[in-house]
Amino acid sequence: MVYLETFGCQMNELDSSRMIGALAEIGFRRTDNPGAAEVILINTCAVRDKAEHKLYSMLGRFRELKRERPGLVIGVAGCVAQRDSAALLKRAPYVDIVFGTHNVHRLKDFLDKAATDAGVVVETAFRDALEPEEYAFNEVAADARAFVAIMRGCNNFCAYCIVPYTRGRELSRRSADIIAEIERLARSGAAEVTLVGQNVNSYGANSGGDCSFPELLRKASMTAGIKRVRFMTSHPKDISDELIDAFSEAPNLCRHMHLPVQSGSDGILKKMRRGYTRDEYAAKARRIRSLYPDMSITSDIIVGFPGEGDKDFEDTLGLISDLRFDNIFSFMYSPRPGTEAAAFKDHVPAEVKAERLRLLQEAQRGITIARNGALVGTMQEVMIEGDSKTNARMTSGRTRCGRIVNFPAPDGYREALGATIRVMITGAYANSLAGEFAGQGQGRTPGQPALLNGLAWAAAAQQRDGLSNR
Ligand code: SF4
Repeated sequence: MVYLETFGCQMNELDSSRMIGALAEIGFRRTDNPGAAEVILINTCAVRDKAEHKLYSMLGRFRELKRERPGLVIGVAGCVAQRDSAALLKRAPYVDIVFGTHNVHRLKDFLDKAATDAGVVVETAFRDALEPEEYAFNEVAADARAFVAIMRGCNNFCAYCIVPYTRGRELSRRSADIIAEIERLARSGAAEVTLVGQNVNSYGANSGGDCSFPELLRKASMTAGIKRVRFMTSHPKDISDELIDAFSEAPNLCRHMHLPVQSGSDGILKKMRRGYTRDEYAAKARRIRSLYPDMSITSDIIVGFPGEGDKDFEDTLGLISDLRFDNIFSFMYSPRPGTEAAAFKDHVPAEVKAERLRLLQEAQRGITIARNGALVGTMQEVMIEGDSKTNARMTSGRTRCGRIVNFPAPDGYREALGATIRVMITGAYANSLAGEFAGQGQGRTPGQPALLNGLAWAAAAQQRDGLSNR
């Protein structure tokens, strides 16, 4: 049995799925109970210090398990492992395997080595190509969704960000390999794929790909069996007209863009090295909304970046009030060792950051509720994802614009994971919508009724033996 804990972004979610898929090949089943596992893996995140604190307190708990069962293998993967394996092993010398972001596909070799070698297995070398076999073990989640990596790394070096150091420079996969993987995932029950990369807009020829990102989206959206295509994360400076046009050309492309702005102050954006001004960002967001009024735009915002004064923060509040994002993910800045911003002197006091975060979240909450409220009384296509997390009697799904909808499902639909249905929206909250079932949806594989597709996907999910539950 393997227990796996994942911190961080969609790239880590995907890497965890690849690990579980690789281990399933050699007979491991996933467990939610670390006490029952022979292998414990932690896929780490170095983007914020909170996740690192959590990692070390978690490792402390697993050390107790290892004392009781010395044969237990503990492995640490991801960005913390990549950035500083020596520091990690100094703090947690009982860890058996440390492997970085370019070596996920070699997990089985590392387990073999850990079983035969007395010492710790450490592998954090960067590789300079993305080979098809690295993605051989990607899994479809139980809710019929899958992530597909189209590239790795980032060349942008935003002043606060550790990613270029932990994931290396941008490398794109060949489009034929990506489409072959999507076809395989579709045959395994995927109804929705999300193309992921640290900066998907720069997918292409300069980094080893063989077509533009919009062209890749068009190809992905034509894959038989795939009803929905999403992507993340986009860098605002690289949003092209061709990409904006792709939303009208690829019918399966969902109307949602996550477009991290990070700040509404030109001075702070410059210091962050984001490569756009507030007005340039706003012009792109407004153009997207004017062409596609049903487009959901979400964003990331960092408060308390070094040097952020009251006026800078007011500019950020002004921007969210102007652009009315559908939602934001907001964070207090925390310095990441090795980044440019960590050496800045003008850090903002913790209590000021906390207060700004509170004010920002309060302002956004009102906007989100209002934008969700505008959908009350509309009919939405919803893809069924499973039981509601807040009310076990309700079923949960997602609109094309990415909002969660909870509704009572009629008999036969509750387990139809991946089926698309129509839902009349009856209520709106900060984190979800409520609705009533209104019939089968349109997004289905040609020639087959949507519900039958959903039931087939449910059967495929059950056959996966619970290994892909996340
Ligand atoms: S674009 Fe900037 S924030 Fe995003 S991964 Fe690259 S360096 Fe980090």
